[in-house]
Amino acid sequence: MNFELLHPAVQIVIIMERIYGYGMTTTSGGNLSIKDDNGDIWISPAGVDKGSLTSKDIIQVKPDGTVLGKHRPSSEIPFHQSTYKQRPDVRAVLHAHPPALVSFSIVRKLPNTSLIPNANLICGEVGMAEYGLPGSDDLGKKIAAVLKRGINTVLLENHGVVVVGKDLFKAFMAFETLDFCARLEIYARRIGTPISLTPKHLEISKNKQHVQMDEFIPQSYSSLERAARKEMCELVHRSYDHKLFTSTQGTFSTRLDGNSFTITPYGSDRKYMDVGEIVRIEDGKREAGKMPSRSVLLHKYIYDKHPHINSIIIAHPPNIMAFAVTEEPFDSRTIPESYILLRNIQKLPFGSSFMQPLMVADLFEENNPIVLVENDCIIVTGSSLLNAFDRLEVAEYSAKALIASKSLGEVVVINDNQITEIEKAFNLV
Ligand SMILES: [Zn+2]
Repeated sequence: MNFELLHPAVQIVIIMERIYGYGMTTTSGGNLSIKDDNGDIWISPAGVDKGSLTSKDIIQVKPDGTVLGKHRPSSEIPFHQSTYKQRPDVRAVLHAHPPALVSFSIVRKLPNTSLIPNANLICGEVGMAEYGLPGSDDLGKKIAAVLKRGINTVLLENHGVVVVGKDLFKAFMAFETLDFCARLEIYARRIGTPISLTPKHLEISKNKQHVQMDEFIPQSYSSLERAARKEMCELVHRSYDHKLFTSTQGTFSTRLDGNSFTITPYGSDRKYMDVGEIVRIEDGKREAGKMPSRSVLLHKYIYDKHPHINSIIIAHPPNIMAFAVTEEPFDSRTIPESYILLRNIQKLPFGSSFMQPLMVADLFEENNPIVLVENDCIIVTGSSLLNAFDRLEVAEYSAKALIASKSLGEVVVINDNQITEIEKAFNLV
């Protein structure tokens, strides 16, 4: 989807659907706007159900103040207008009250964007605007005072968040990433003390390069590959909708035959990923004109080394990541389903997946299908795409259950005898 070429009203509807569908705003809270080249502001309406918004509901406000449309513009239009006046480089404003960011806003603290790589690059510096009455010029001035410092992401005391950007998708990505950081920190603090990446680690991940690979032009696409691409797209969409991936993070790959596999591209929007965007890797070369995920070498080494592995997922779902950013071990002996699918989960130091991919590839065995990398990701392998996806889902749900159990009492793990019994009954190696 070429998002930038869509009409501003359509862009607003699509992003509002994503925000509402993802549980990041209520039907009455939140508003979006875009400033057009001619100075018109397109903005979401007041009092219309966010769950059934169409492009005809979006309001156009001319530079002279004339309002065109079926409804009143959002009551928070004053701060949208003052933002565009204050920052001529800004072309989109996003405002919402997602629960995790509201939690931070009511204790007046900023979420830590250094627990995982790239979040600080996507969100930039995060500021805090003083409390002001919703819809008032006063609140507009308080937000503008923070934006004036060149900050694009602003938490509002006892209210929510405002994110501005060069376009609506960029603002959405920063918003989604900040919300992810907030959820991650909340979960991590329930089980331990979150450990931030050091400036050195942040610098290493910032300078992470694309893998140099020769290109090849595919002569044909087998039925196996066509089916794999379709299944991969379906599971990527599902991973996004179930909050296992964010819009640009999360990698899938699946083996086609001995020397080739398909992998998700670098940087593309996971919500609408299309079969044509998937990249085939063959004999160490990449399909012409496409950029594979930067973890492509790790995938290649795992397939080269382990004939029983046919699919790999790299992701960072927030509940699992709570264990990756704290010293708390992730023990799969919670319920039989978790132990059967997840087995022993090793935790590796940050950076190992891209600095020592050969060493990491060696670690995967039948009884060790999953690896957790500190402050980075979970790497899940499986006998098929669905098997790897199932493991990822089970891992996230198990992590969620473990975190929730902390407020209930002491966790009792399945004991050694019971584990032996499970291993026998389910033929586990
Ligand atoms: Zn609001």
